Amino acid sequence: MRIDICKNQLKCDFYGCKNLAKYSFSTKGFIRRDLVFCEDCMKKMFECFSKLMVPKPIDAPFKKNKKERV
Ligand SMILES: [Zn+2]
Repeated sequence: MRIDICKNQLKCDFYGCKNLAKYSFSTKGFIRRDLVFCEDCMKKMFECFSKLMVPKPIDAPFKKNKKERV
């Protein structure tokens, strides 16, 4: 999987969004063509992902771990 800058003048694929796509996401066969989306939707998508992937807030995890071990 890879994200590229969208070179074509395509509309964002997200429902209800009328912005021009800024990024394209190559799914390599999952969908027939690349998914394209604008910067706003990229941010919203990232917020959704980060809620799933990072349940704890990121504040210097390495330092915290060292303190806890000592
Ligand atoms: Zn959009």
